[in-house]
Amino acid sequence: MSDNQTPMITLAGGGLVGSLLALILAKKGYRVEVYESRPDLRRVDISAGRSINLALANRGIKPLEQLGLMSKINDMIIPMRGRMVHVEGETATLQPYGQHEYDVIYSISRGELNSFLLTEAENTGLVTIHFDSKISQVDFDTNQLSIVQGEHSQTVSFDKLIGTDGANSVVRDAILALNDNSQLSVDVLDHSYKELHISPDSQGQHKIDKQALHIWPRGQFMLIALPNQDGSFTVTLFMHTQGETSFATVKDEATINAFFDAHFASIKPELENLVGTYIENPTGSMATIKCGPWNYADKGLIIGDAAHAIVPFHGQGMNCGFEDCQSIAEHFPAANEAESADWHALFANIAKLRKPNADAIADMALENYIEMRDSVIQDSFLQKKAFAFK
Ligand code: FAD
Repeated sequence: MSDNQTPMITLAGGGLVGSLLALILAKKGYRVEVYESRPDLRRVDISAGRSINLALANRGIKPLEQLGLMSKINDMIIPMRGRMVHVEGETATLQPYGQHEYDVIYSISRGELNSFLLTEAENTGLVTIHFDSKISQVDFDTNQLSIVQGEHSQTVSFDKLIGTDGANSVVRDAILALNDNSQLSVDVLDHSYKELHISPDSQGQHKIDKQALHIWPRGQFMLIALPNQDGSFTVTLFMHTQGETSFATVKDEATINAFFDAHFASIKPELENLVGTYIENPTGSMATIKCGPWNYADKGLIIGDAAHAIVPFHGQGMNCGFEDCQSIAEHFPAANEAESADWHALFANIAKLRKPNADAIADMALENYIEMRDSVIQDSFLQKKAFAFK
C-alpha cells in the first residue's frame, strides 16, 4: 500500500507493453510508477534502429478497443489487406488476409504508438514516468530497486513490481535467480535484419500499393516493406548473419550494389540512398526467449518481451505483449479490492494463462520465417490463404 492509501504498482520499462499496462492499471485505480531507461521519446528523437513501424493485429487491437483507443489512433494506422508477394520476374500477387474488407491488419509507427500510450497513461493523473532511469538491480528480499539516473543512483521501494523491460529484462533475471527450478532458453537466430527506406513520390504519395505488406521472398533471405503515414515505406532486409551471402559479406558499396542488382533489381531504384542507409543503419539480431517462472511469489511478474521475446516473422511480439496486458485487465482486481486479493495466485495465474500461448506463437513465428522467405514462392502455396503477419 502506498503512502496515500492508493495501492501502487511499479513497472520496469515504459516501452509499448509498459505504457499500455500503466494505462490499464491506472484505469483500475492503481497509482503507477514507471522507470524507463531511455529519455522521453516525445521530446528526444531516439529512433533505436529497431523496427520503425509494426503490424498491429487482432490480439493487440482487442485491449486498445476495450480502452476506447482505436478511434483515437485512427489517423495513425494504415490498413493492410494482404501480403503482396513480389516473386522475381513475375507480376506481384496479393494474398488477402481474409475474404472481407475488414480482414486487415494495420501498419503503425512504433514511436507514435508508444508516445500516444505514454500520454494517455499520464493523462489519468495516476501514472508517473521516470525517464532516463535505468533499473540496475532488483532486490525482492528488501523490495528495493537500484536506479541509475545519469551520474546519480538511488534506491526506491516497491510493493508489486511488473517487468515490462523487454528482451534483456533485469526483472526476469532477478525472478529466475530466486527459483531453484527456473528455466531460461535464449535462442539467437542465425539471421539478422537491417532497415532501409522507400521515400514518397514527388506528390508525397506511396510509390507501391500502400494497403499491403510487401514481401520479396528469395529463399535464404527476403525483403519486406510496411507503409508509413508520410508516403514512405520502412523496408527490412532479413538475411544470414554469417556465411556466403550474409551481412558479413554484403557490406560495402560494391557488394551491396551487386547483391541488390542480382536479387532485388525491381525495387532497388526505389530504395533511398541504398548504400549509405545500408552501411549507416545497425544490423539487428533476433532471438526467441522462453523462461519460467514468470512470477516471484506475490511481489513480481514479467510480461511482454521480458517473458517471451519472439522473432518478428508473425508480426506478433507486441500483439502478444498487448494480449498479456489484456489478461491483466481481466484478472487483476480494482484498486479498492487490492488489499484482500491473493496476489501470489493472481500473478501465477497470468503466467499459467499466457505462457502456453506465448510459447506457441514463438514457435509459429520461427516456422513463418521459412514460409515467408521460401515456401511462399511456390505456386501451390500461392493458392492458399495468406496468414503471415496476422
Ligand atoms: P520493448 O519494446 O523492448 O520495451 C522495453 C522497454 O523497457 C524499453 O523502453 C526499454 O528502454 C526499457 N528498459 C529496458 N531495460 C530497462 C531497465 N533496466 N530499466 C528501465 N527500463 C528498461 N511485434 C508486432 O506485434 N508486430 C510487428 O510487426 C513487429 N515487428 C517487429 C520487427 C522487428 C524488426 C523487431 C525486432 C520486432 C518486431 N516486433 C513486432 C516485436 C515488438 O517490437 C516487441 O515484441 C515489442 O517491442 C515488445 O514490447 P515490450 O514493451 O515488451 O519491450
